[in-house]
Amino acid sequence: MTTEHHRVVIVGAGFGGIGAAVRLLRKGISDFVILEAAGAPGGTWRDNSYPGCQCDIPSNLYSLSFAPNPAWSTTFPIQPEIREYIERVVTQFDLHKFTRYHTELLDARWDASSTQWRVVTSAGELSANVLILAMGFLSEPFVPALDGLDSFRGPTFHSARWDHDIDLTGKRVAVVGTGASAVQLIPEIAPRVGHLDVYQRTPAWVIPHMDRRVTRPEQWLYRTFPVAQGIRRAMTYVVSESRHAVLTRTGLLNRAARALARANIRRAVPDPELVRRLTPSYELGCKRVLLSNRYYPALARPNVDVVSDRVIGATPTGVVTGSGDRRPADVIIFATGFKITNRACYQRIRGEGGTDLASSFDEHGAYLGVTAAGFPNLFCIAGPTSGVGHTSFLFMIESQQAYVADAVAAMVSRSLGSVEVRPEVQDGYFHRIQSDTTRKVWASGCTSWFLDEKGRNVAVWPGYSWTFHRRTRRFDEKSYHVTADTAR
Ligand code: NAP
Repeated sequence: MTTEHHRVVIVGAGFGGIGAAVRLLRKGISDFVILEAAGAPGGTWRDNSYPGCQCDIPSNLYSLSFAPNPAWSTTFPIQPEIREYIERVVTQFDLHKFTRYHTELLDARWDASSTQWRVVTSAGELSANVLILAMGFLSEPFVPALDGLDSFRGPTFHSARWDHDIDLTGKRVAVVGTGASAVQLIPEIAPRVGHLDVYQRTPAWVIPHMDRRVTRPEQWLYRTFPVAQGIRRAMTYVVSESRHAVLTRTGLLNRAARALARANIRRAVPDPELVRRLTPSYELGCKRVLLSNRYYPALARPNVDVVSDRVIGATPTGVVTGSGDRRPADVIIFATGFKITNRACYQRIRGEGGTDLASSFDEHGAYLGVTAAGFPNLFCIAGPTSGVGHTSFLFMIESQQAYVADAVAAMVSRSLGSVEVRPEVQDGYFHRIQSDTTRKVWASGCTSWFLDEKGRNVAVWPGYSWTFHRRTRRFDEKSYHVTADTAR
């Protein structure tokens, strides 16, 4: 039996995968399939359905450049609308016919003799000249290994896998973590639970949120004159880019932002002791800066306690903190973030000599967040060090998609059998990222998911997003070892 073959296999039908598919179609490449483990597209915006889930980037900037959305109901898009938007894009570009739902990538190996990837999925085997990994940046929930968690009698779940069957009304709930997800879900659940314990290991900087409803006349304007939304988008992009100077550096602007954040706490929290515990002691921007007008008022509610301690264990009836306190809980919700290094999805990818991609990424990063030496014909969307905090991640993703489509088109037009980034190019790139990071606020002395345990930046692009866009505009073949396609 011959194995099904495609020029390209894309893994993941979130923003990364569907945007890559559209870019390939625009280059005239239609021999591809998209593998999607779930039953629907959407990626992180399908998986994160916790109450209050919303993007902290303005809606006019949070869409794919080739598919504007005049229908956003708020100036910062909410999760159900982002999910619907992604589904509309999939329909608009007729991508369902390319997509294999309920098909999980189990294993992929580079076969040097045929210069192809051998791909094993939950629904059978495939081969491909090119593998595009678009499995998302924050797609593997991290739950701390707590002593005794198995013994806990109540429900537990992660914010990114919200259990909508659990009714929290009147319950005693423990939320572990005070990052971006927690800050959004806590104000939603606090009024309906009986009691809420918020376990804060490190406070976050939370500044006021400028969200508002998009008016009907604005929606009409965007629908009738798309150029008006385009202008708004361009203006929003420029404003977001200017935030880079505030959010990535220490200095006067950063101090002003901290003053704003402190006022945000004091406005809502009357208890000076709680104000003290909620005020971070590290530089603003060292961890991701959060937006909320409702978080601090929720913490000031009489049915909410902020427990300034880490969680180290669980008992059948509650939670054990680092200082040994045992606090009762009916439900434990982990808002504890995502795995960034040594991710399971990359452990399944084996390049030359059987090296797995997770180890390679952890050791060497990825050139432009896209390619890695030892992994020919493999392209990653949203790979290491391509995240951003100051502007839309979609801008970075789209830059990578254009780069990858250009690379695949070059392979087709020039009959290339394989392309593999030169190790010295990749290492030079990774070192440059690290040296740029030392001058940024992320290296100013906090613990964040931007840096690994060795203190190396594994997550974010340290520059302005337009500089990344400029670098990825064209496939730079000279940075790659290329071989001719001998099968032709
Ligand atoms: P996160 O920002 O990494 O926050 C994880 C939280 O869990 C932190 O407060 C962390 O404390 C805490 N934690 C971890 N282990 C703990 C333990 N054993 N005991 C007590 N606390 C513990 O995760 P997230 O909130 O899911 O957000 C991750 C990223 O997703 C964000 O940075 C953002 O990029 C993205 N996101 C974006 C949005 C948005 O657009 N609005 C919304 C949600 C998520 P420490 O700080 O001490 O480590």
